[in-house]
Amino acid sequence: MNSPVSISAPRPRVGLLAAQGDFAMHRTMVESLGYECAEVRTVEQLQNVDCLIMPGGESTTMRKILKLDGLWDAIRDFAAKHAIMGTCAGLILLSKRITPGRSDEDTLGLIDIDSDRNAYGSQYHSCRQTGFVAVDGSERSFEMVLIRAPQIVRVGNGVEVLGRMGEQPMMVRQGNILALTFHPELGEDSIVHRFFIENMARSIMLPAKSKAA
Ligand code: GLN
Repeated sequence: MNSPVSISAPRPRVGLLAAQGDFAMHRTMVESLGYECAEVRTVEQLQNVDCLIMPGGESTTMRKILKLDGLWDAIRDFAAKHAIMGTCAGLILLSKRITPGRSDEDTLGLIDIDSDRNAYGSQYHSCRQTGFVAVDGSERSFEMVLIRAPQIVRVGNGVEVLGRMGEQPMMVRQGNILALTFHPELGEDSIVHRFFIENMARSIMLPAKSKAA
């Protein structure tokens, strides 16, 4: 990982869902990596980006706004051909189910995990902890900022665990969807954003190799 992007490689325009929540620091991190970052509040804006970051915030409010603005269904369609990274509330909305048996809130269902909202307690219990992420073949430590964070309580068969704190999965990937319980935009290390943009978003943009005759 982290090999320089070649000149001919496509440079993804990163969309940042700005309906609600903590999106500003994602922009700072994306721009510090040298990528264009466009705020997405409408379906039209979504159609003009190459990948999407769904930030933390408050998932109930975010869901309402996304539905009102037509973005709920548009994000589902977008996921068929683009990479999406969801952090915290973003992970909750991407997951298959929320707090199974205790909540009937609907989700986008784009990654086969179940999430439990506010699993670490209230705002007061928000904290920074050291976990590990593995985005380039080896694990490295990563400072994980948790803010009323959800917990991943089930990981489906097709889902890879790319980040953990102890035995607890903290970052998971299924195909072009990446979901994190923590806030990578609030730390110093941009490796998760770099991985999402340069590995996941870029590879889905590359034209399919022509089939041998
Ligand atoms: N607790 C919030 C929710 O359930 C998520 C918190 C966050 O995104 N930092 O929506």
